[in-house]
Amino acid sequence: MARVPRVVLVGAGHTHTGVLTRLRHQRRPVFHVTCVTDHALAAYSGMLPGVLGGQYPRSLMEIDLASMCASAGAELIVGQVEHINLIQCHIRFTDGRTLPFDVLSIGVGSVPSMDDVEMTAPEQVVPTKPMQTFLDRLDAGLDRVIGSRVTSELAIAVVGGGLGSIELACALAPHVRARHGAHLALRVTLVTRDSRLSADLAPSTARRVARALESRGVSVVTAARVTRVADGALELADGRRVPSALTVWATGATAPPILRTLDVPHDARGFVLTNATLRAHLDPPVFAVGDAGTLAEDPSPKAGVYAVRQTDVLWHNLHAVIDGRPLRTFTPQRSFLRLINTGDGRAIGEWKGRSFEGRPVWRLKDRIDRRFMSRLRESPHG
Ligand SMILES: Cc1cc2nc3c(=O)[nH]c(=O)nc-3n(C[C@H](O)[C@H](O)[C@H](O)COP(=O)(O)OP(=O)(O)OC[C@H]3O[C@@H](n4cnc5c(N)ncnc54)[C@H](O)[C@@H]3O)c2cc1C
Repeated sequence: MARVPRVVLVGAGHTHTGVLTRLRHQRRPVFHVTCVTDHALAAYSGMLPGVLGGQYPRSLMEIDLASMCASAGAELIVGQVEHINLIQCHIRFTDGRTLPFDVLSIGVGSVPSMDDVEMTAPEQVVPTKPMQTFLDRLDAGLDRVIGSRVTSELAIAVVGGGLGSIELACALAPHVRARHGAHLALRVTLVTRDSRLSADLAPSTARRVARALESRGVSVVTAARVTRVADGALELADGRRVPSALTVWATGATAPPILRTLDVPHDARGFVLTNATLRAHLDPPVFAVGDAGTLAEDPSPKAGVYAVRQTDVLWHNLHAVIDGRPLRTFTPQRSFLRLINTGDGRAIGEWKGRSFEGRPVWRLKDRIDRRFMSRLRESPHG
């Protein structure tokens, strides 16, 4: 009998969890799937600000990968991948173990960029990734700085100008006050190197965002390139200083180190270049999906919506390379619905350049996020 091909999915993010969901509903799988992940839980970024701001319990943004893989009939390996060998067709873990594959898909996401920043006080920085441990690292940092602060006011900052940074900045004060008391004097600053926040937002949306941040007590510092994280302050390239005892680092996406070790073409940020079928390497077949891959002909922003939409194409193409059938191509949508949780029971939305906000917008975001998570959790037997 012919050997069952082995498909290895590295990283359990937006695309690969979608593939596991499809696998759950397949009666006679044509390949064996192993999901390799560095954490036993997957964390959904769309809900992180809501969890931080106390709108959701933490469990709502987390997926237990052991039960997800079990219900999909897939094998789960929790370990840190150190190297991918395209000659011998295996991946190697940091503990030296290796795992062979016939077809590989890489979906390890991205990490916030920290290039050219001198970290004199690294313990005062909390990067958003790994997202699974973000809340624990943030709380440990808050406990430390609140316990040892010398002034009555606590200054914290978020570095980054994207939608995630805006949401985190809105949610930080409610989180700190819920943990450490409503009386705490707090100063939250959002710091971005761009001349305005989320430069790709329509001007009307940007105005709504600016008003929302102001009403949440968040100061915004633009055109601010952080060059050094010093003790209690961020130093900027133009000589300004932003007081910050603890800084959430949520800058633009760059490639995790594992991607740079892969012997395939990369884009300028180190992400793996793929063709329109999401394939990065012909033989052995290697796909790169979500933030980890960049379509050479049609690069799109690094956002979860693209990673989710790639699921159908990857699912088809995993079967197609094994069966020798034609592969499907992925076309990123030109615009997508942006929904920004402002942490006060309201949200700001933008669709095709038009912006809107209010409680119904928050309810829409809430419904979309809950539906997404419940689809990942639902059992194959209904
Ligand atoms: C605060 C915040 C809010 C955001 N909100 C939105 C939003 O509302 N809408 C939107 O479209 N996008 C949003 N984004 C962006 C979105 O999170 C990413 O684009 C999306 O997560 C990419 O999905 P992915 O599957 O490529 O990677 P991820 O979802 O990051 O998954 C990658 C997985 O790979 C694992 N991994 C990493 N390295 C290894 C390794 N070496 N070995 C094994 N496993 C590994 C990680 O643990 C992780 O589980 C937000 C980002 C942030 C930071």
